Amino acid sequence: EAKKRKNSYCLFSEKMRHNNIVKSDIEYELRGAIENNELWMAYQPQINADGTLYGVEALIRWENKKLGFVGPDKFISIAEETGLMRELGDFIISTSLREIEKIQTKLDMRFYLSINISVVQLIEADFLANLLREVENAKFDRASLTLEITESLSIESLDDVLPLLYEIQEHNIKISLDDFGTGYSSLSMLRELPINELKIDKSFIDKILYDENEKALVQSIINIGKNFNMKTLAEGVESNDQVKVLKALNCDIFQGYYYSKPLSKENLIEFLKKEKI
Ligand code: C2E
Ligand code: CA
Ligand code: CA
Ligand code: CA
Repeated sequence: EAKKRKNSYCLFSEKMRHNNIVKSDIEYELRGAIENNELWMAYQPQINADGTLYGVEALIRWENKKLGFVGPDKFISIAEETGLMRELGDFIISTSLREIEKIQTKLDMRFYLSINISVVQLIEADFLANLLREVENAKFDRASLTLEITESLSIESLDDVLPLLYEIQEHNIKISLDDFGTGYSSLSMLRELPINELKIDKSFIDKILYDENEKALVQSIINIGKNFNMKTLAEGVESNDQVKVLKALNCDIFQGYYYSKPLSKENLIEFLKKEKI
C-alpha cells in the first residue's frame, strides 16, 4: 500500500514537472517562432446547407525544431499569459488576410474568412485601428471578414468589449460567438451582444446521433439563433449522418473533417478549384 502511494505520488510529481518544463520550453521557443518562420496558417472550409462554400476558418499551426508540432490548444493560452499574444495575433491577422485575398483574386472567388481573436487581443486599445489598417493593406474585402470570439470570455471582460463589438459591426465586419454552449453566456447576454453567428461547439455535435437530449439542446441553440437573426454553424462535423440531422434541424453552415481537415494554403487552392466546377 505504501509502495503504491509512493508510486502514484511519483507519477503525479513527474507529470507536474513535465508540464512545467514543457510550458517554459513552449514560452522560450515561441519567442523565436515568428522570426524563424515556424508558424503558418491552415484554413478549414465552411460549407452551406446547399453544399456551396461559405467560408474558411484560419487556424494557426506551429512546428518547432526542438518541440516538434505543438497544437494551438497548448500554446495560445501560454502566449496569452506571457505577453506574446499581441505579436502572434498580428501575425495571424496579417497572414490570413493577405493569403486569402491572394487566393480569392487568383481564383476569382469570394467567401468569408473567419479569424479567431483572443480576448487579450480585443482589449488592446488599438485593436480595431490595427485590424482596419491590416484589412486596407491586404486589400481584403471587409464585408467578407468574420471575427470569432470565444464564448468563454467572462462577463466583466464582456462589459469592456461590448462597445468595441458594436464598432466592429459598424465597419461591416461580422462577429461569431465561438464554442457556443460551453461558456458563461446566458440568453440575456445574447440579446445584448452584437453577434452575427453562433458556432455550436463540437462537444454537442459529437453526441447528436446518440443522445436525444443533446440533439434537443442543439435544436434549441439553432432556434435561438433563428430568433435572434444569427446564422448557426456546427463545428466538428465528422459524418454524413450528423450532417443529415443538423440539416433537419435547420442548421445553416457546417464545418468539420467530414468536409475537410484544415488545409495548407496550397491544398486550399486545390480544394477550391474542385469546388468551382
Ligand atoms: P476552435 O476555434 O474551437 O477550433 C476548432 C478546432 O477543432 C480546431 O483545432 C480544428 O482543427 C478542430 N476540428 C475541426 N473540425 C474537426 C473535426 O471534424 N473533428 C475534430 N476532432 N476536430 C476538428 P485546432 O486547430 O487544433 O485549434 C484548437 C483551438 O486553438 C481552437 O479551437 C482555438 O480556440 C485555438 N486557435 C487555433 N488557431 C487560432 C488562432 O489563429 N488564434 C486564436 N486566438 N486561437 C486559435
Ligand atoms: Ca474557432
Ligand atoms: Ca470549439
Ligand atoms: Ca475555441
